[in-house]
Amino acid sequence: MSQVDQYAVFGHPINHSKSPRIHTLFAQQTQQELIYTAQEVPAESFTSAITHFFKQGGKGLNCTVPLKELAWQRADSLSKRAQFSKAVNTLVLQADGSLLGENTDGIGLVTDLTVNHNISLHNKRILILGAGGASRGIIAPIMDKSPTHIVIANRTVKKAITLSNEFSQLGNITGCSYDEVKDSEFDLILNATSASLTGDLPPLSDNLLANKGHCYDLAYSNDPTAFVKWGLAHNAEKSLDGLGMLVEQAAEAFNIWRGVRPETKEIIALLNSERN
Ligand code: NDP
Repeated sequence: MSQVDQYAVFGHPINHSKSPRIHTLFAQQTQQELIYTAQEVPAESFTSAITHFFKQGGKGLNCTVPLKELAWQRADSLSKRAQFSKAVNTLVLQADGSLLGENTDGIGLVTDLTVNHNISLHNKRILILGAGGASRGIIAPIMDKSPTHIVIANRTVKKAITLSNEFSQLGNITGCSYDEVKDSEFDLILNATSASLTGDLPPLSDNLLANKGHCYDLAYSNDPTAFVKWGLAHNAEKSLDGLGMLVEQAAEAFNIWRGVRPETKEIIALLNSERN
């Protein structure tokens, strides 16, 4: 008896995840038969949950907070992107039963910025707020687009400096405190902190954003996030949240699993229309 291919996202908390909806829309659009579920998996259950999932016929898995580093450790092999970022958001079952780890977050962000919103990264001064897992995943794909430089500012300064050192072979990347960056100016500010999830803002000075600059919050919510509002209040040409990135990283994962890349524009438009 042939079984429908199973996919899932593991995370904790996971009840508000949009991934099942997005992948179900992708499957309908590309006429693929599959089932995609969200499963509540705390870090301590990760190893047993993975073993169970793939034993039951699972074909591919997404991992989100707080599991991306554990997924990186668990993967039997890693793509170049995942190797570098030390975080895996997509696991792919290989023909020999091993698990390949991928990271599609960074390419998802870059596609949303450059293709969906026509925001060029070339020769741009870019500030990344935060030095956690999301920052790790986005640095290399951004550097591929040849910005002038990236500055990483973080509350725990040591983490920003460590991260910038790890990626410094890719170009001009520095890490510092929020205070050290307060007199600088940037063309694009990316909020990769989780502050928006609690309605908070990192300490940002009023002159950080250049004329015609853009703001992008990797977090997303039905209402504008605190950082999206900050961008609007500081005359950002565009001040966006991470819904488009979410759909684009999912489309990359779907392509890796199914060999077909969904059309994302109509799905982003649909999800946008469902806000509120
Ligand atoms: P992590 O927990 O790994 O990192 C969190 C970062 O936020 C740390 O740098 C932390 O600083 C900083 N931070 C947390 N609270 C505050 C605060 N109140 N003020 C200043 N800094 C703060 O999280 P991730 O990197 O995995 O995720 C970050 C964000 O990116 C989340 O909002 C997540 O939802 C979003 N995301 C969106 C994706 C999408 O597809 N749209 C994909 C991936 C992530 P410190 O080091 O000092 O603790």
